[in-house]
Amino acid sequence: MSNKTPNNKYINRTLDHLSPSNEMPIWVFIMLFVIYFAASRVTRLTASSQAVISLAGYAVPVFAFAGVLSSVCNICVILLTTFCGKKGYFTSLAALTLQIPLIIISVVKGHNLNSISGVFSNFLAIIAVTTIFFYNIKANKIQMELRRQAVTDALTGLPNTYAITALLDDLIKRREKFINVTINLNNIKNLNDTMGFEAGNMVIIEAGRRWKELSESDSTRTHDFISHLSGGEYALIIRDYHSCEEALDTIRLYEKALHSCFTINDCDLFITASFGYAEFPTDADTLNLICTYSTAAMHEVKRKNSSDHILRFTPDLIKMEHTIEIEGKIRSALENDNIFFNLQPQFDMSHNLRGFEALARMRDSDGTVISPGEFIPVAEKVGLVDKVDAVVFRKSAEFFGEAVRKYGLDITLSVNISVRHLMKNDFLDEVHNIIRLSGIEAHQLEIEITESIMIESVDKALQCINGLAKMGVKIAIDDFGTGYSSLSYLHRFPANLLKIDKSFIDKMNMSKSSKEYVAAIISIGHILGFGVISEGVEEEAQLETLKEINCDYIQGFIWGRPLMPDAAEELIRKCAGDTEQNV
Ligand code: C2E
Ligand code: MG
Ligand code: MG
Repeated sequence: MSNKTPNNKYINRTLDHLSPSNEMPIWVFIMLFVIYFAASRVTRLTASSQAVISLAGYAVPVFAFAGVLSSVCNICVILLTTFCGKKGYFTSLAALTLQIPLIIISVVKGHNLNSISGVFSNFLAIIAVTTIFFYNIKANKIQMELRRQAVTDALTGLPNTYAITALLDDLIKRREKFINVTINLNNIKNLNDTMGFEAGNMVIIEAGRRWKELSESDSTRTHDFISHLSGGEYALIIRDYHSCEEALDTIRLYEKALHSCFTINDCDLFITASFGYAEFPTDADTLNLICTYSTAAMHEVKRKNSSDHILRFTPDLIKMEHTIEIEGKIRSALENDNIFFNLQPQFDMSHNLRGFEALARMRDSDGTVISPGEFIPVAEKVGLVDKVDAVVFRKSAEFFGEAVRKYGLDITLSVNISVRHLMKNDFLDEVHNIIRLSGIEAHQLEIEITESIMIESVDKALQCINGLAKMGVKIAIDDFGTGYSSLSYLHRFPANLLKIDKSFIDKMNMSKSSKEYVAAIISIGHILGFGVISEGVEEEAQLETLKEINCDYIQGFIWGRPLMPDAAEELIRKCAGDTEQNV
């Protein structure tokens, strides 16, 4: 006989946990019983009393109150039966039955027929409470079945997500150590595609059956709870293990349970699954995290596609998960034309429009916009940034070329180009083509590069930048001061503009030395023959300081946030109008 708690016991416990029975607490039972007892005693006394009392000037015989008191008794037994289950019913039944001979004795002894109606009333009450009791049994059965269905997965008959969440909640509340394993059957989608959903379902059911049997057998030394989440995904909770090695042995047994072939529609199928696990509270201490972490480990098993199908969560998996997720989003955004651009205006210190910086934006499949701070670093890591740059470059140049032609303004379009993109052999051709197709003049185009270019491959970068300069395209050095800056390299760069990073502007007014630092960058920029623009200017005080220390341009929320193309066109139209008036 197994000494383990089988799954269905867990289900029942979960059911109790999810919807505790309607039975009232014991003090309600005692209170109703005491009221009943007291009321029935007083009923008998009043029924046999010959006394008369005066009420509002009327003489009322005391036995007239017996009816009211007997109703109180009946209400008590009805409440006892309805709310106190079996205990309430049998107590009521016993009390009502015992009352009958007592009433008869009092009628016979007292030669007083006043109480005889109490016998009939008790008989009726017995019928009423018995009817209520049996009705309640039936209703409870239906309710139990509904509750059971609510926590059971219809396909496999295993506990479902709701049940496992309740159990996890409970374990976490009690701070009980456990391991949460996310299991995913491999290639279930292929199976569905090739053999049909029926076959896929049969595999899901059979895997669930094998694991349920295992969880209820003595083969594992731990207490296990297996549930089906959806499709080919299951969750296993392992409890009562002495060491992680012991829990791992249990997981290995679950993996082994799939080893014998699955015979579906006369086909022998060899099914495997990926197992990712995390331990509470060592790896995570909230329900959400423990599930996320075991799922992340399971995905990593799938991604690695190695022969080892079991993996424990480690923190670096989360970063990897995030990268993989964002990479997927970038690929789908590129495919579905969901990369677009915003234009942030740049101004000189007298608030005249210098031009715009094109900033990449990405629309997720649900319509939300993802910021470049989130997806550009991933695009750089996975080698997609040149594709993203190229889309933003092409689209913004098309828009800009048309707008400047329409309004006749001579302003600049700055585009961010990653080092990887710049180093591509055909980059100069790409720029050339974009200039030709968009109709922008070369001097109206500015390529923003970061200082990191100086570390990666100075000679190749210089060759490319010189090529751009020859074309007449301007060069801006973005985020200046945040990376590795070498004055000697800077000196060799035919750059036009230094962009001081927002982090310096943020703290510029906080100390004298910070302000002097920004002033020094501006001076160096000027000595090297560059214009200087400050990024991220948000406050009036920053603007004043920048004027004082001779900054040439600003880009920041104070005068303009990144705009959608139609708003940018509106700004261009307005500036063109102002220029005409001034002329
Ligand atoms: P960045 O090139 O330095 O762009 C300036 C960033 O500062 C933009 O953020 C802009 O919205 C933000 N900004 C400007 N003024 C203010 C201000 O006053 N306050 C605040 N809080 N922020 C301000 P965004 O659009 O999120 O871009 C972040 C970075 O993503 C960019 O920094 C750039 O490095 C990169 N990026 C954007 N578009 C592209 C692209 O098309 N290609 C590549 N390779 N990188 C891009
Ligand atoms: Mg930039
Ligand atoms: Mg910048």
